[in-house]
Amino acid sequence: MDKEFICPECGSKEAGNHMMVSREPPTEKNKKDPWASILQQTECASCKNIIPDHLGDRWDNMSIEEAQKKWKETYRKTSRFQKL
Ligand SMILES: [Zn+2]
Repeated sequence: MDKEFICPECGSKEAGNHMMVSREPPTEKNKKDPWASILQQTECASCKNIIPDHLGDRWDNMSIEEAQKKWKETYRKTSRFQKL
């Protein structure tokens, strides 16, 4: 069964644009960037944050609480820079 998108920021289930991202291979400069390994991401239709798919779709049976925690700790600060 496909999991539905749930935004870890605002709880919306309405996914906006889905993006497949091609990024440069990790370098010294960007290896600390948590987004460097994100290849699929979705823009939340409600709050417009860019959400990595592994959090929005909760891969590997991730709980929504865990997705929210990772989102806040790791990705939220820099989400606005990911818009293509
Ligand atoms: Zn949202």
